[in-house]
Amino acid sequence: MQNRLNVKKGDSVIVITGKDSGKKGKVLACYPAKNRIVVEKVNMIKRHKKPRSAQDKGGIIEREGTIDVSNVMLLCPVCGKPTRIKNTLQDGKKVRVCKCGAILDKKYTKPTKKTVANKTLDEKNVAQQKADLAKAEEKKISDKKKVEKVSESKVKKDVEKNGKSNVAPKSLKATTTNKTVNKVNARVKKGDV
Ligand SMILES: [Zn+2]
Repeated sequence: MQNRLNVKKGDSVIVITGKDSGKKGKVLACYPAKNRIVVEKVNMIKRHKKPRSAQDKGGIIEREGTIDVSNVMLLCPVCGKPTRIKNTLQDGKKVRVCKCGAILDKKYTKPTKKTVANKTLDEKNVAQQKADLAKAEEKKISDKKKVEKVSESKVKKDVEKNGKSNVAPKSLKATTTNKTVNKVNARVKKGDV
């Protein structure tokens, strides 16, 4: 079975060793059979290209060379830190998880959907995970008193709402039943029944 790399095309990585150590970039290509990847603006090499046609001028072209996958660490899009990954199962699919708990792979969507839609979904997921992290931190920081106050006021509001909503239909029902009772009484008095 072919080796499975910890990084995928499109991931952000940081180079941790070699002449480009410390550089960050996106993974442009993966070669799992060779354990090598191509990272944006990392390991730039010069190729001397011959002109192959009238339009092709040739010359010295600079492009990315491959680097070993062990020279990079994955950057988590949620916490922004270099991380080792943990593989877990989600809905029967293997997904990569960061130390911070963020899921690094796209949520499984049916292949019939367009790739553009998937992209936006993925961005939304990342944004949501970020928001969740921020919320968790805010909760830790915020005073317990504030939380208590908020909950009290909420309860009061709820009670008011419930009281109004509950009372209104009951009184209506009461009046209607009273009316019918009165009518019946009137009939009884008249001697119709
Ligand atoms: Zn993370």
